Amino acid sequence: MAELDRRQFLGSVAAAVGATAAGTGRAETARLFEPAFRPLPLGAIRPEGWLLRQLRLQRDGLTGHLDEFWPDVAESQWFGGAAEGWERAPYWLDGALPLAALLDDAELKQRLARRVDHVVSHQRPDGWYAPYPKDAGAKPYDLWAILLVNKALVQHHEATGDARVLEAVRASLRALHAGVARTPLFDWGRFRWFEGLVPAFYVHERTGEPWLVELARTLRAQGVDYEALYRTEDVTLPTPRRGLWKWTKHVVNTAMATKAAALSWRLDGKASDREFAARMIEILDRHHGQVTGMFSGDECLAGRSPLQGTELCAVVEFLYSLETLFSVFGDPAFAERLERVAWNALPATIAPDMWSHQYDQQVNQAQCTVNPDHLWTTNGPESNVFGLEPNYGCCTSNLHQGWPKLAAHLWMRTKDEGLVAVVYAPCRVSFAARGVPVTVTVATDYPFRETVDVTVEPRQAAAFPIVLRVPAWAEGATLRIGAGAEQPLRPGTLHRVAREWSGATKLALRFPMRPKLSRRYNEAVAIERGPLVYSLAIGEQWTRINADKPHRELPHGDFEVRPTTAWNYGLVLDAARLESEVAFEERPVGERPFAPEGAGVVARAKGRRIEGWKLVNGWAGEISRADPAWARPPSPEPLGPLEEVRLLPYGCTNLRVTEFPLVPPDEA
Ligand SMILES: [Zn+2]
Repeated sequence: MAELDRRQFLGSVAAAVGATAAGTGRAETARLFEPAFRPLPLGAIRPEGWLLRQLRLQRDGLTGHLDEFWPDVAESQWFGGAAEGWERAPYWLDGALPLAALLDDAELKQRLARRVDHVVSHQRPDGWYAPYPKDAGAKPYDLWAILLVNKALVQHHEATGDARVLEAVRASLRALHAGVARTPLFDWGRFRWFEGLVPAFYVHERTGEPWLVELARTLRAQGVDYEALYRTEDVTLPTPRRGLWKWTKHVVNTAMATKAAALSWRLDGKASDREFAARMIEILDRHHGQVTGMFSGDECLAGRSPLQGTELCAVVEFLYSLETLFSVFGDPAFAERLERVAWNALPATIAPDMWSHQYDQQVNQAQCTVNPDHLWTTNGPESNVFGLEPNYGCCTSNLHQGWPKLAAHLWMRTKDEGLVAVVYAPCRVSFAARGVPVTVTVATDYPFRETVDVTVEPRQAAAFPIVLRVPAWAEGATLRIGAGAEQPLRPGTLHRVAREWSGATKLALRFPMRPKLSRRYNEAVAIERGPLVYSLAIGEQWTRINADKPHRELPHGDFEVRPTTAWNYGLVLDAARLESEVAFEERPVGERPFAPEGAGVVARAKGRRIEGWKLVNGWAGEISRADPAWARPPSPEPLGPLEEVRLLPYGCTNLRVTEFPLVPPDEA
């Protein structure tokens, strides 16, 4: 297997499976239904421009160093130590492995290869990995970490071709198959059953062994039926403050489970799986949706208020789910959601230097302090401070997969030897079309700019399609091919350019970004433009805390963040004249693209301070259109004078107000 060109092999598997499906109308039981698009092998996409800077920040921050000082990874039982031997080291591998491959970083790759080697060489002959007790096969054991570590390890095989790793995953899945026959899935494994389908499908597509498909069916049969769960009220009702922690409302389980229907669809191609995948996200939007494209959960589903938190683990898991959903179903709406979450919720909740992070982010986040009066559903008082492991260490170990997996899924393969653009960001893609090596280069500062230049350059003339995703918001989008005429593109579609390519051909895309006002919780409004959501820029004071706690030596310390400028603004906007009411200005994208000072675009609008809108027990307080404090101003006058307010992309802020009340321009 290591000798084989993996790309060619994938191509031949795809062709065989496709032929079966086409010939019989449905695949045989032991075959998998072919996804609409296939991810490229790790290493085929290389980040450039601002994305390269972002991934280097991640390498130079927590991801590249966690295994040097944080015991739950550095001394993990997975790596021969005595610390945690469950999900934390596998989580770290799940993000660090693709990061090393994307950056082609020799030092990090070597370090990870040693870690993986330890896991693989300490696997027992019965297929169980070293952290598990000798009698694990005979005892009821929550299998979640097994599903997770195998999902991480197949990435190492994909990046390196190391046949021992594929064999280790295969042996582990065999042990899993025997294990679930004795003791059905329970707890985490039962709620996250579909994660096991990722490595099972991966190994099946390389070995053709039918028992792996049977394993996938068994995991599904024993796991939670999310379609049934989402017909109940259980998931629609927000969890009350200091409410009951429930498996069914756990936000990370939920974010992971949004891809369950896509993985399930590959088993039998059922139309109901395709339909449910979209419906599950609609239900979450309706009851828990946030302007970032996320749904709240702190850490159980928490409703639509912009004051509720969203756990970082849920953000990175939802991103991976959306990558899977787009790959399997090919619906551009999933890719559109992917970029919305990636450009807004992901960077906002990790510090610009990528050394500290929050457990929970808020859409209206005026202050981040250790707060005993917190309003979370089930999380603790530290959940929105920036730190090493605020609240709990799951996000510390799991945050790493967000950026690297996004970068690895910027483009995917079409069934007919071409490429499809999933999300636009600066990168270089290498692949082969009908045996001809092709380079596709994306030069852009998108999402901070409206233009994307894609250059397609095969080594010799070759025919294949390039499929361009046109965002649904991009009214007036255009494409110019080479020196040709500008042609209009239809928003919300995949635009196919099928031709014989020779030499270097430039595809110049323009996605006009116009400001949009969206109505949110309590009739508040949020300003969006293109894929970015905009938030009030707030001055920040970072204060170090927990300096005496273990492992908090700088640069990986804990910090509270307090506002140094006013945050309690309502907006004065004429929604009908939004383009002249909000002024956007392009700036160079900074060394830290998602820091307040690195923002590639800033905006200005008009607002007035709402004097009565104050911190309530440490958070921004709830305010609504119906709030008498500003809608029907009593005397004395509660609104400040008209001022210019500065807005930044949500992802560039650490403190923010994003959902604003609209206030009148004067007292008349
Ligand atoms: Zn977490």
